[in-house]
Amino acid sequence: MLYGALEAGGTKMICAVGNESGQILDQVSIKTSTPEETMPEVIRYFRARLDAEAEDDRISALGVACFGPVDVRKHAKTYGNILYTPKIPWRNYPMVKTLKEALNDIPVGFDTDVNGSLLGEVTWGCAKGLTDAVYFTIGTGIGMGAMSGGNLVHGMLHPEAGHIAMSVVPGDSYAGHCPSHGACFEGMASGPAIQARWGKPAKELADNPEVWELEAKYIAQAMTAVTYMLSPQKIILGGGVMEQSQLFPLVRKYVLEYINNYIDTKELRNISSYITPAALNGNQGIMGALKLAEMAAAE
Ligand code: ADP
Ligand code: ZN
Repeated sequence: MLYGALEAGGTKMICAVGNESGQILDQVSIKTSTPEETMPEVIRYFRARLDAEAEDDRISALGVACFGPVDVRKHAKTYGNILYTPKIPWRNYPMVKTLKEALNDIPVGFDTDVNGSLLGEVTWGCAKGLTDAVYFTIGTGIGMGAMSGGNLVHGMLHPEAGHIAMSVVPGDSYAGHCPSHGACFEGMASGPAIQARWGKPAKELADNPEVWELEAKYIAQAMTAVTYMLSPQKIILGGGVMEQSQLFPLVRKYVLEYINNYIDTKELRNISSYITPAALNGNQGIMGALKLAEMAAAE
């Protein structure tokens, strides 16, 4: 069975065709500009796979893992829409409706980009078989996908764990860049926050240990909070900032320090597999979208 998968990001749209084993058979990347420019190309890609001559070559459902905020409430009027995004041309854009209308009402699975990445890792990657796990992306923004008891968490809309409050680390005079909260997790620890605090892009600060010490303290505060609140069996950290792999041992160390033995589990005793990078080499998002398609087809 073939499925379509769309990882809709703020800079690019990855469109792919794959199968139920998570194999990506074909993939293209389309620049995200405005819906008027970008979506016809996306639709053309999947349309061709819907109309394939041989039945075996046709996709039977589409999965979409989308940048947010998005409306993932199945029964809401605005289900499948992008909501109040800073990317103004995409505000209130009806993603699912547009795709379904253009693609013969094909089943469409839809979730946040971070839930998509988490689903990829839970299905085929480092969290395979787990029922409780979280995925954070730490990049331009910070977002969290969560699975609890085997279900992707939506709640009243979807979690926004990138905006939990931080205790400012003594000596850090940076005020935080979140327009809504100042010194929240995203305001203090996203890529743009690192750049604003230290005056250089995060990538160019690789050799400054003080940058990563401070960064790890903020990330560890958030990971400690999520450990307390959701009790995940695994925390996966992705996004551009986590390319600095020296962060992993630091984050693990501070999480253990902050928890201070309050929780005693085999997962925390084995902290290096509790807090880990993604295992699917950057394909976790598109593979998660593939799984969303399979789930939509089964519904
Ligand atoms: P996005 O969040 O826009 O989808 P990324 O996850 O790549 O994309 O995040 C981009 C942010 O991550 C930028 O702020 C950039 O400074 C930072 N970043 C990208 N690559 C690296 C790197 N190798 N080391 C540190 N920071 C990086
Ligand atoms: Zn915020």
